[in-house]
Parts: sequence; C-alpha cells; structure tokens
Amino acid sequence: MEPLHSLLLRQLKRHVGQPSAIPSEWQALVHAVDKAYRQFDEDRTMMERSLDLSSQELLHANSEMRVIFERLINSSVDGILAFDRDCRFTVWNPGMERITGIGKDEANGKNASDIFLSLQDTDEAQFLREALRGKTVVAKNRSYVARGTGHQGFFEGYYSPLFNEAGMIIGGLAVIRDVTEQKQWEERLKHSVNYDPLSDLPNRNLFTDRLTQALARAPWSKRRVGILFLDLNRFKVINDTLGHEVGDLLLKNVAARLVTCIRNGDTVAHFGGDKFAILLEDLAQADDIPKVLQKILAFFSESFLIEGHELFTTPSIGVSVYPNDGKDVESLLKNSNTALLRAKEQSSQYQFYLPTMNVKASQRLALESSLRHALERQEFLLHYQPKVAIKSGQFVGMEALVRWRHPEKGIVPPAEFIPLAEETALIIPIGEWVLRTACAQTKTWQAEGMVPILIAVNLSARQLQNQNLVEIVQRALIDTGLAPRYLELELTESVLMQNLEANSVSLDKLHAMGVEIAIDDFGTGYSSLAYLKRFPINSLKIDRSFVRDLTLDSDDQAIVKAIITLARSLKRKVVAEGVETEEQLEILRSLDCDEMQGYLFSKPLPAEDAGKLLKENMERQKRTPL
Ligand code: C2E
Ligand code: MG
Ligand code: MG
Repeated sequence: MEPLHSLLLRQLKRHVGQPSAIPSEWQALVHAVDKAYRQFDEDRTMMERSLDLSSQELLHANSEMRVIFERLINSSVDGILAFDRDCRFTVWNPGMERITGIGKDEANGKNASDIFLSLQDTDEAQFLREALRGKTVVAKNRSYVARGTGHQGFFEGYYSPLFNEAGMIIGGLAVIRDVTEQKQWEERLKHSVNYDPLSDLPNRNLFTDRLTQALARAPWSKRRVGILFLDLNRFKVINDTLGHEVGDLLLKNVAARLVTCIRNGDTVAHFGGDKFAILLEDLAQADDIPKVLQKILAFFSESFLIEGHELFTTPSIGVSVYPNDGKDVESLLKNSNTALLRAKEQSSQYQFYLPTMNVKASQRLALESSLRHALERQEFLLHYQPKVAIKSGQFVGMEALVRWRHPEKGIVPPAEFIPLAEETALIIPIGEWVLRTACAQTKTWQAEGMVPILIAVNLSARQLQNQNLVEIVQRALIDTGLAPRYLELELTESVLMQNLEANSVSLDKLHAMGVEIAIDDFGTGYSSLAYLKRFPINSLKIDRSFVRDLTLDSDDQAIVKAIITLARSLKRKVVAEGVETEEQLEILRSLDCDEMQGYLFSKPLPAEDAGKLLKENMERQKRTPL
C-alpha cells in the first residue's frame, strides 16, 4: 500500500496542477508531514484508518485541503504539533492534549520552553530549537507525566523543520507517539523471559546471567560462589493427591520462604516444577554455605498451611562451589545437579559435590543404557528362596528374586538395578516378565507333581501405581494357568502408604481375584494402623534388620514381639526374613512367629536347584507325614 504522505502529495499535485501552484505553506507542511512520517517504519497509524482517501472530492479545493489536513491532524492518535520560528505553537492537536494534559487553547501561541518547562521536560524545547536549525531529531524512550490526570507514560518524538518555498525554515513540526502500551508490553515480555510465571522468582535464564556475572567478578574479589540446587521430596505425591492448585500454592509458599533465607544480593531462582536454585555470591569461605543450608532446612521443618491442608515437605539440596567444583556456569550447574541426585539417592538432606560423583553418574548412565536392552537380550533370570513354616519345618512358599546376568559385570543384584529400573519405568516390563516367569515356573512344578506352594513376587512403587496392574496380573495367571490362590504379591510399607486411595482400589481387586498380599520389610516404613486393618493384607514380613540382632539387642526383640502381637491381633500371618542362625530361629519360635525365610534354611536358588529342594522336601514329608 502506498504510504499516506506520498499519496497525499500526489493527490495534492494532481488537483492543483503544477507543484509550484500548491501554496507554499501547504507544500512545506506536506513535506514536513512526509518527513516526520517517514520516521515511522510502518504505515499503520490511526490517521490512515480514519481517513477515507478514496473520496476524491475532498481534495478539490484548497479549503477542502485544509479540511483534510485538519481532519488528518485532529484524528491522529499521535500528538502532532507545529511551531513557528520563535518556538511558539501554531498547531496542537487532540493527541497532544491527551498526552500532555494541556489543552489546545493553553498551548496555542505559547512558547515551547514555557510549556515544556511546566512539564519539567527541557529537552523537548531543545529538540524544537534543533529542528529550527534544520535538523531532524528522533527522540526515543522519553517519559512523560500528563498534567491534570498525572498519567505516566513514554513517547517517541520526531522533530523536523518546516521549509517555505524558498527553502527557508519557517518553523517546525513534531509528531509525538505515545508508546506506553508498547513499552509495558515489552517490559512484560522482558519479565517473562527472566522470571517464572508462577513464583515470580528469577528463572533459569536470569539465574544463568547472574551466575555469569558473579563468576566474572569472583577472580578479582577472590571470593567463592555457591550454587545450591534444590527440589522437593514427595512433591509429586502432593500434586497428584491434592491437585495442581494446592501444588502450585505450595510452590509459591516455598519460593517465599526461600527468599527469606538469603542475603540481599543473592538470588533464589525457580527453574520450574519443584526445582529451585540459589546463588550465593561473595562467600569468604565455603564454610558459610552450611549456615545457609541449616537456615533453609529449619524453614522447611515448619509445615505449610495451604487451603486447610497442613503440608510438610522437605528439600534435597545439591551444592557446588566455585572455584573448586567448576569455573564456568555449565559445570557448576551440572555438578550441583549431580550432587542433588546423590542427596536423593542417599536420602540425605544435602550433599556437596565430589568429583567421584561424575564417575558414578556416567557409570549409571552406562548401566541405564544396558538395562534398556537387558530384557530383549534375555539377561534376566529368577532365583527362588523358600519360606518355611516354623512349627512344622515344611516348605510353604518361594519368593522369586530377580537377577541380571550382565554380559560384562556378571550377576548384578537387584539392589543395584531395581531403583534405576524404577526411575526409568523399565520396571514395568521387567516386573511383568518376573511375574509371568515366576507363575510359569510354579505351574511347571505343580505339573511335575510337587506339593503346590505359594509363589511370592515383589512389586515396586511404580508397578503398584500402574493402572494396568490388575490386568497384568490377571493375564499372567490366565496365560500360565496358575490358580490365583498360589500367587502372593510383596509390597513394602512405603510403597503401600504412597497414594493410599488408589492402592486400596487395586489391592481390593487383586484380593477379590484370590491373590494374597504381603507387606515386605515390615517395621522400616511408616504404616498407618488404620490402613493395615483396612487393606486386604494376608501377611507381614518382619524386616531382616530386626531379625539380625535378635539375639543381641533387646530392643529388636521387643520390636519383633510387638510386630508378631500386632499381626496376631489383626489376624495376619507373620514371616521373619533373613534368619541366619539357630538362635534367631529359637527366639522366633518362642515368640510364635509363623514362618521364616533366610540363609539358615536356604539362600535364593536358581530354578533347577529350587525344584530339587522342593522335591526333597516333598519326599521328606512323605516319609514323615504330619
Ligand atoms: P526383599 O524382597 O526383602 O528380598 C529379600 C532379600 O534379602 C533378597 O535380596 C535375599 O537374597 C536377601 N536375603 C534372604 N535371606 C537372607 C539372609 O538370611 N541373610 C541376608 N543377609 N540376606 C538375605 P535380593 O535378592 O538381593 O533382593 C533385594 C531386594 O530387591 C528385595 O528385597 C526386593 O525388594 C528387591 N527385588 C528383588 N527381586 C525383585 C523383583 O522381581 N521385583 C521387584 N520390584 N523388586 C525385587
Ligand atoms: Mg520380598
Ligand atoms: Mg524383605
């Protein structure tokens, strides 16, 4: 589209004939308008929109032209002003009135200095004088306060001289564009680039900037810089059970508390989700960091009251310090993250970075990639560990325990790969394989004529939370032909107590199918007694740690006794894990424990050996029937 000013000039020339026939003052004005508007990069002003340029009649006569110009000037949302050689205003449009709060009548004929001085803006008067000297001035980023309304904003000013026919300067013209909204929008944009929308704390972007600056200063000041990388334990559980609104409010509250833990000049940033980072600048020594850590942890020891819920959450924190743990942004952030992962792994509240951690981290990565292929490469196998009834000495069950035959490392115990499988969700297919293999093996033993035993399979948190769990179990039973009453699922207390409501639904369905449920490692987690009673649990397995010191530690004996009493009163079966000695067995027998499992009777065995043991046991039973 043709720009307004050139269109205007063309129309004017066509109607008046020769360019020289256009009255000089109009020519000058058109030139000035033309020039001023050239400054604006796009032809998108209100003027064009409000003016119907297709109506040719408007341009028939000089008087009509005046009407056009007046309309043009009056309908402009931009401020337009003209001034004579003495800097007195001759044109002051409504746009100017709106921006400055000064009416046309007041401005007309007044000297620019008077007006602008009253607006405390002496630069503008200066710009007009420069225009009178033939210069075109573009002034950006000017602030204003409208008189009367007190409205504050920003404008851009375009000041240019007005020439007469002879090329002499007869005054000047200015276009004042209010850019307040644009500026606010830019500010908002700038803010959103640097701040987290939920907590309004600096985001990763701004944090990285500040860290870069701190690192640039640090070598001169010989100070240290600390980075604390933090996330919240169990945040996902809170979010999932109480909803995202409560989760968001908790994050906001955490953000507010973290800010109170640091000094002025330090930065708390929100990296999104439940991840926060703190930049501690200007540390005299690394010893200053534990003080901040203690302060943060103390803040978290108090509950958060959110929409009527009293919530407790604790952070895990990873720490890296310049210059020891890295000299650039990337390595410091990476190392604080590595330290955070380690803190989580070890369930410690915080962890300082150690160079050995990276070695561990890369080993873990390698392990993860080989774990991904382990199933298809058929590297898993099951060992079976018998469970024995203490009174009769009879075989009552087997626990299936997974092993990974790693091509280079040899047999990897589950403690080394189950947590990783859990984290990467590989536990779902691996767990399904374990379940099917264990059920199939048990069915085979039955087909071989062995006395049927209960097969126990361990389930991890993610497996229990899997919505398809019931279906997966059902399919495994149907496909292998094992009757549900021969399957027992072992869950630890902590797994069971996460997400109680959802777990309760799955467990009820499994129970209804006839599958048994056992609580594994009992005594190490926090069980809600109410739930113990409500859940369809068949047995409690006393954790190995209590059995280990049974003969030495009277506290452990008291705990084991209490668990057995509890199981009795809830009418649940009770099994002792990790029984290694006759002395332990004797005490368990005296405490009336139902079953035992442990090296005393048998270590976990490969399927073939477990089968033999089953057979021997069966033959012994035949010889000495009860
Ligand atoms: P868990 O279910 O409590 O299994 C008992 C662990 O104690 C087994 O270790 C077993 O070998 C060991 N153990 C048994 N008797 C004794 C004893 O007398 N003394 C000592 N010191 N240890 C004994 P394992 O096989 O290394 O399994 C460790 C954990 O890995 C299991 O603890 C279970 O939580 C998990 N796990 C094993 N297999 C699977 C599986 O297929 N799926 C899932 N989700 N977890 C599994
Ligand atoms: Mg177990
Ligand atoms: Mg156990």
